[in-house]
Parts: sequence; structure tokens; C-alpha cells
Amino acid sequence: MEKFSERSRHVTSSATREIMKVTERPEVISFAGGLPAPELFPIEEMKVACEAVLSESGEQALQYSTTEGYLPLRQDIVSRLEAIGIHATTDHILMTTGSQQGLDLTGKLFLDNEDTVICESPTYLAAIQAFSVYNPNFVEVPMDEDGMLMDELERALQAYPDAKFIYTIPDFQNPTGRTLSLKRRKKMIALANQFDVVIVEDNPYGAVRFAGEALPPVKSLDTEGRVVYISTFSKIFSPGLRLGWICADQVFIDKYVMFKQAADLHTDSFAQRITAKYIELFDLEAHIEDIRTVYLSRRQKMIDCIKSYFPKQVKHSSPEGGLFLWVELPESVDTQEIFEECLKRHVAFVPGNAFYPGRVKNNTFRLNYSNMPEEKIVEGMKRLGAVLTTAVNSSTVQSSRE
Ligand code: PMP
Repeated sequence: MEKFSERSRHVTSSATREIMKVTERPEVISFAGGLPAPELFPIEEMKVACEAVLSESGEQALQYSTTEGYLPLRQDIVSRLEAIGIHATTDHILMTTGSQQGLDLTGKLFLDNEDTVICESPTYLAAIQAFSVYNPNFVEVPMDEDGMLMDELERALQAYPDAKFIYTIPDFQNPTGRTLSLKRRKKMIALANQFDVVIVEDNPYGAVRFAGEALPPVKSLDTEGRVVYISTFSKIFSPGLRLGWICADQVFIDKYVMFKQAADLHTDSFAQRITAKYIELFDLEAHIEDIRTVYLSRRQKMIDCIKSYFPKQVKHSSPEGGLFLWVELPESVDTQEIFEECLKRHVAFVPGNAFYPGRVKNNTFRLNYSNMPEEKIVEGMKRLGAVLTTAVNSSTVQSSRE
């Protein structure tokens, strides 16, 4: 359509969104989405919180409110950040409509046509989508089990010294479940300082650590106010409420507020108030602890199933938190083809290719373990294992013939 903007050409329908539609069918055991365990949502407590908000401050809760967000909730966030080493005031917090909006506003704020964004390879699919609207040049930095490789990051910064920002998901990354080591966090800050580049730390999963030692957020190591920290209530409370936030220095927040205002005036007043009320009346930390316990056990079940049912050539990550596990197959196997075969058996995952801006790798895929009960994990992994075994065997036979 000739009336559409140039920008609209960069937005294509996502193959993965199409995949998700199929995987939502009730008969499918889906390891595809990134959904929290719904049975853990604190529904009864939320009824109490909603009732309290409506009777105590119904008029304000249903009214327009400020762009920055509901002050008591921002105060709660400041306290939660303080506990993980990020020293902020409420002036440094902007409430957003999910952290996804934080990513969209980040694209608006920083990116002009063909600007460079440095990111992990692979990285979060919907961040690629959000930034792609501004037609950036994605520079992918390879990772190992300890996250982004710092010598490769340094090389990327030397090659693209005008890069606008480094986009990183340091804790239990989506899609790999990997965590950036402390040494590398420090090095990332040092490199950002040296090359004068912003770091966008997307950290929705940090609080969902169920094993190992907590690491300080990259933002807590920031000495020059160059880290924009983006987080959310989606994985610790409810994604349906669409509550996220940006924590950054005033110069950034002032600009973000203007873009936020233009986008949607402010984040849902009612959602912000009931969340603050829940935190006042109940124990959010205890709720997160319940989430951790369930996810640890589901992750363990999934890894046990990989050991029992997957072919030996398969490699996988061992996340200490978050929602995802990453699987790597021999190079000769195409996970898109396997996906089709799995769907026939009513089991789904996300083929890895979608998580690389350059679509470079076809032998990986992402598994979600948070959303399915353990008996379904076992059944789904058995089916998946059978398809993988056939695929790996036939690819081995084929490559030995070549
Ligand atoms: N960043 C990452 C890395 C994510 O995995 C997600 C959700 N899956 C988001 C941002 C967006 O989350 P929300 O908008 O629900 O806060």
C-alpha cells in the first residue's frame, strides 16, 4: 500500500506468532510460549486487593493519571531495586505497559535508520521485532554458557564505534536460559564506558532464580549512569496486568516520559493500584518463592527427560532461573522441519532461527518449562524425543553417505 510509511515495510508478520496460534490448541502440549504457570496466579488475594482499591480509591483508580505512574507502586519498585543493589529514587522509575513497551520506547528514543544495535546471538524475539521498526543494523555477539563473549563484544564495538546501545538480557536469557557471569558484567560496563555506548539491560527474570548464587544486575555496577534497566511484574505476578517499568537516570526518563505520553498517556491506573494494594496486603516475596519452587521442579523434570528421551548428540543449557531451556542439535538437523513433525504429534517448541536477527542458525530450539504440569512435560518430551531421535539418526546416515 503506497500510503503506508517507509517504516511499515520493516514490519513483517512474525512466523512465530503464527506458530503460537497453532500451539494454543488445547490438544497440543506446548513448550513454545513464554507463559507463567497460571495455577500460581494469586486470584483470591487479587479479589481482596481489587475490592479494597475500589472501595478506598475507586474514583482515582478508574480515572486518568500521571504518565510516570502510581507513586506508591514506584516506591515499592525502588525498594525492590535497592535490595538487589540498584540505588534509585521514584524519579528514576517510569511505569510502562509491560516491559515490552519499554523496549518499543527504547527503539523510539535511540534509533535512527540503520543505527547499530549490539545484541546477544540469539536474543529475545520480540525485542528484535520492537527495534526492527526503526530499521537498525543488528550486530550479533556470540555467547557461551556464561553469556555474551566479551572479546567478541569488544571486537563489535571496535567495528561499530557509533553503536547506539548494547541490548542484553543478563539473567536467564530468553531464549537460552543462560546467565552472564559477574566478570563479564564488569567487563561489559568497562567496555560501555570506554566506547561511550548505552547498555539496555532487559531483566524480566532476575527475581525468578531458583538455583545458584544471585548476581548483581548490570545496572548496579553502572558508574556513569549509562544503563537503562527494564523490568516487569509479568513473571513474578501477572503478565495480563501489563505492568513493567524503566529505571534510568533522569535525562533518559525525561525523554521516555515524552514518548510514553505520546504512546498511551499512562499505564493502566487500576492495574497499578491493585498491584500496589496486593504488595501492601500480602507477601509478594513469598509468592515469588512459590513460583521458584514450581519452576525448579519443572526445569529438573525437563532436564531428566532430555537425558532419558533425547539423542545423546543433543546439547542443552541448564538455567538456574527463568522460564526457558535452549537445545542445540547437530548442524545437519533443521528444527523448522522437526517442528512440523512434532505438531503432527501435538507437541510444540519454538525453532531457534527466529531468535537470530540474521536468521543464521537452524539447528537450535527453545523449550519453555514454566507453563506445563510435570506429567505433560514427561509426555511431551517423550514425543519430542522420538521425533528428534529419528531426525538425528537420519541426518547421521545422510552425512555419512555424503
Ligand atoms: N523482555 C524479555 C526478555 C521477555 O522475555 C519478555 C516477555 N517474554 C519481555 C521483555 C516482555 O514482557 P512484558 O511485556 O510482559 O513485561
